[in-house]
Amino acid sequence: MNIQYTPTTCPYCGCGCGFNLVSVNGKLKGVEPWKRNPVNEGKLCPKGNFSYEFVHREDRLTTPLIKKGGEFVEATWDEALDLVASKLTEMKEANAEQLAFLSSARCTNEDNYAFQKFVRTVVGTNNVDHCARLCHGPSVAGLAQTFGSGAMTNSLESCAHADVVFLIGTNTLEQHPLMWRRVLQAKEKGAKIIVADPRFTPSAKQADLYIPFQSGTDVALLNSMMNVIIAEGLEDKEFVKNRTTGYEELKEMVKKYPPEEAEKITGVPADLIREAALMYAKADSAALLFSMGITQHTVGTENVMSTSNLSMLTGNIGRPGTGVNPLRGQNNVQGACDMGALPVVYPGYQAVINEELGEKMQTSWGCGDLSCAPGLTVVEMMHAAHDGDITGMYIMGENPMISDPDQQHVEAALNNLDFLVVQDIFLTETAALADVVLPAFSWAEKDGTFTSTERRVQYIRKAVDGPGETRDDWEIVSDIATRMGSDLFKFTSAEDIFEEVRSVTPQYAGMNPERLSKPEALHWPCPDEEHPGTPILHAEKFATPDGLGVFKAIEFKPPAENPDDEYPFILTTGRMLFHWHTGSMTRRSTTLDREVPTGFVEINPEDAAKLGIKNKEMVKVKTRRGEIEVPAKVTSDIIPGTVFIPFHFAECAANMLTSGDALDPFAKMPELKVSAASIEKLE
Ligand code: SF4
Repeated sequence: MNIQYTPTTCPYCGCGCGFNLVSVNGKLKGVEPWKRNPVNEGKLCPKGNFSYEFVHREDRLTTPLIKKGGEFVEATWDEALDLVASKLTEMKEANAEQLAFLSSARCTNEDNYAFQKFVRTVVGTNNVDHCARLCHGPSVAGLAQTFGSGAMTNSLESCAHADVVFLIGTNTLEQHPLMWRRVLQAKEKGAKIIVADPRFTPSAKQADLYIPFQSGTDVALLNSMMNVIIAEGLEDKEFVKNRTTGYEELKEMVKKYPPEEAEKITGVPADLIREAALMYAKADSAALLFSMGITQHTVGTENVMSTSNLSMLTGNIGRPGTGVNPLRGQNNVQGACDMGALPVVYPGYQAVINEELGEKMQTSWGCGDLSCAPGLTVVEMMHAAHDGDITGMYIMGENPMISDPDQQHVEAALNNLDFLVVQDIFLTETAALADVVLPAFSWAEKDGTFTSTERRVQYIRKAVDGPGETRDDWEIVSDIATRMGSDLFKFTSAEDIFEEVRSVTPQYAGMNPERLSKPEALHWPCPDEEHPGTPILHAEKFATPDGLGVFKAIEFKPPAENPDDEYPFILTTGRMLFHWHTGSMTRRSTTLDREVPTGFVEINPEDAAKLGIKNKEMVKVKTRRGEIEVPAKVTSDIIPGTVFIPFHFAECAANMLTSGDALDPFAKMPELKVSAASIEKLE
């Protein structure tokens, strides 16, 4: 019997926990702790514990598929890749800007690097994006404007040193359980926990101060807290004077948000706003954590900048126990952004519109002219496909049929394409619509790196062989690039690709295999091989050109869609402990699926009573985009007037109901957290 322990990194949330995959005779049998990993020190949440369960599923894709006469037919790699290469060549020669590409936050840095390099150097467009757009696009855009760097400022471990932890728009206990462990470590040492959320989540239940507020009113709440802090003279005057600009404009603006005024907008009693403001401002070290409750709005970027304002105002930046900490949802969403799987930047956030940087990349890659026109974002791609302006798409490891807003619109858009290629591990709802399906390795079958939410770059390692004819994502992309005539994809391994990554990505330059092999790995920025890495950003100065943090005076703007007589509820969507994103992996995990086998809509008992709805009864939830039938979960864990649906479940898809019409002007984020909805009991 051959028993192997392979140390690797979790494929689910952005915490980046490490563990051993245990295989017996080439088959995964379980996970065992890897206690030396400093992220989780041997602890895991249920998703990590059962992360091996979907790998050997019988419904894994094992061979390329080509759709003929509406049916998928098995094909050889040569047939499938020749078809993809010839179609993409023909279409790019007609107009490269009519092609669009979705990369993947589930794939490795090496996969994402190869993918965006293919799009830019072989196809000749910047139309490459991935689902960071729908989770933390506003974090990148907002923090870049205020701090000069669009990433989590502190490490996970740093949070354990906070005196106050303020969570707004994050249900950390369920979504980032091993980050929650750090919050609890802080609490055990006497820290106070504040949670602002429209839902009385499991995280909120453990808070010292819970602020139930109306979804979409974050700016008003944060401005009001700053109003109180300045009125009480609790701002950090030294920090504001020496480290920031724009304070006077901010101070004038927040005068309009005394707690009594903010109460009318947010629904939060004025005294509660005051109490939260004083608690946060009086702490020696206050950490602010947020997630998609802040970002998934048409004002997502402004929400993020408001969190920066609050932390700079109180000097809570650049020290352990402080910071503005966006908790990235997917295992490698940070890395996919770092690798330039975004329509406006090359690897390392080097802007495509900057001609000098374009020339630098051209020299590094040894390629022809690179486009300096910003590409389309995820939702813009779907609109363009719907209108016939995008005619071909290549989607690697994403499932926009479930993850993108307005599912009927997405389906119509994908069906309107002349050519759709999907590369994945299962025949997802999106892959089912493809012309060609390319079967890829899962995370347990490949080598490479993931970059976690705390900017820690860690190895994943191959534990078992992929089934059938599956291949590595970067290898498939490289093969297509080569068949399209490129000689820039002669990679032989993930390590080979990483060497190129560090040569063009300044933040990764000092990372080499020896350093990354250590359990603690490295946090970027790590500019040279002597540099120790940077667990805490902005300690001495911000990453802006003059080194100063920038206050942004931001007014409250209401959501793009508000309740009315026809649609009287606010629908908000989100995630849960046992499932992850579009469910393509967790719903194929027997243990996780057994815990929560289908979706539900949370509704407050007051609202349920008015509508005659009892717990577990089937209801119809309807918005201007569509309707779904779903069991009701009657619970006082949600405020009256608001309902919540998790978005993991295709059979009652929350994104049938959301809208992709209005977008955040900076990050192009749709209004995923606020939709006007109606509910009726089904007979
Ligand atoms: Fe995996 Fe996140 Fe759970 Fe850690 S906390 S085991 S990274 S899902």
